[in-house]
Amino acid sequence: NGSSPNESGTGETLVIGSSGFIGRFVTEACLESGRPTYVLVRSSPNSPSTKAATIKFLQDKGAVIIYGSITDQEFMEKILREYRIEVVISAVGGESILDQFTLVEAIKNINTVKRFVPSEFGHDIDRAEPVEPGLTMYDQKRKVRREIEKCGIPYSYICCNSIAAWPYHDNTHPADVLPPLDRFQIYGDGTVQAYFVAGSDIGKFTVMSINDDRTLNKTVHFQPPSNLLNMNEMASLWEMKIGRMLPRVTIAEEDLLQRAQEMRIPQSVVAAITHDIFINGCQINFSLDKPTDVEVCSLYPDTRFRTITECFDDFAKKISDKAKAVSMPVTASNNDMFVPAAKPETL
Ligand code: NDP
Repeated sequence: NGSSPNESGTGETLVIGSSGFIGRFVTEACLESGRPTYVLVRSSPNSPSTKAATIKFLQDKGAVIIYGSITDQEFMEKILREYRIEVVISAVGGESILDQFTLVEAIKNINTVKRFVPSEFGHDIDRAEPVEPGLTMYDQKRKVRREIEKCGIPYSYICCNSIAAWPYHDNTHPADVLPPLDRFQIYGDGTVQAYFVAGSDIGKFTVMSINDDRTLNKTVHFQPPSNLLNMNEMASLWEMKIGRMLPRVTIAEEDLLQRAQEMRIPQSVVAAITHDIFINGCQINFSLDKPTDVEVCSLYPDTRFRTITECFDDFAKKISDKAKAVSMPVTASNNDMFVPAAKPETL
């Protein structure tokens, strides 16, 4: 378990954005840790059915569902007070970062929240400097940081780096799609390393760190050595899983910059951040030398991270399950779509 020497509040936790990509991982980890977990859900008439299914799943696991929006300050103050919330974790999406200002105001007025985790879950936005439009999103996240600090709200900033998946430059949620089955697009020469962290570990270590006095008012970096890979290594690993080689196509720095300049949101934001990771090396080009830096592996040396190999096994299993579901015999003609039952356990 996440044993930490100084536990600060194992109490009522409110998660915002639980129906989203990162928020779901965090909420599941929160429930697994046994904390009383409250989930704020925006009610909207046109919600996709997947959102309702996620909320139902979390509710069945014990989450208390509260309907409302963080933009309603009075309402937020009411629920923070009523449910005696001690920890607030926000995982609102990139387009809602500034919505958190009202939430910060509510937390300040209530003055009983022991830890606030704003929506970051990426890089250290005070260090990284991506091109536009990535920079605008970072500027918004920076503004939220400054407001939290100005209000004297206890915080942890989670810098979990990349999600463990193939890093598509035009997809905000790459873990939702399989790694390539036709060709790899490699950024630059493919030698710049990044940290690829399983979604479940993003949730798990986030929840562990909010329980810990050592992360109070700190930037929490996720730098597991076992998850540090470059794109060439990622490609070779995936080739091993699927049992065949794929062609590699180079996406040059200029290509990524051009995608960023197209200003298609959110794809151009992803292109700008992809450029910062795989060309500039923003996850590895600094040292943890500020007094506010802490690193999760040093904090929890006994808790292991899922490796990329394990995460890729999951993707390979999805392919073989899909092949089985359509009971499609694997032949040379369909081999491009479904690889020979992948047998992930033997690869
Ligand atoms: P999503 O867009 O998948 O989900 C956002 C969630 O926030 C949804 O549940 C949404 O609810 C909710 N939300 C938005 N506004 C409000 C509001 N006003 N009140 C209540 N709920 C609200 O977000 P992501 O998971 O993509 O992003 C979360 C964070 O993680 C961001 O900071 C992002 O930059 C980062 N990120 C990091 C990645 C990585 O690889 N490290 C990858 C992707 C994101 P609703 O369903 O009603 O819209």
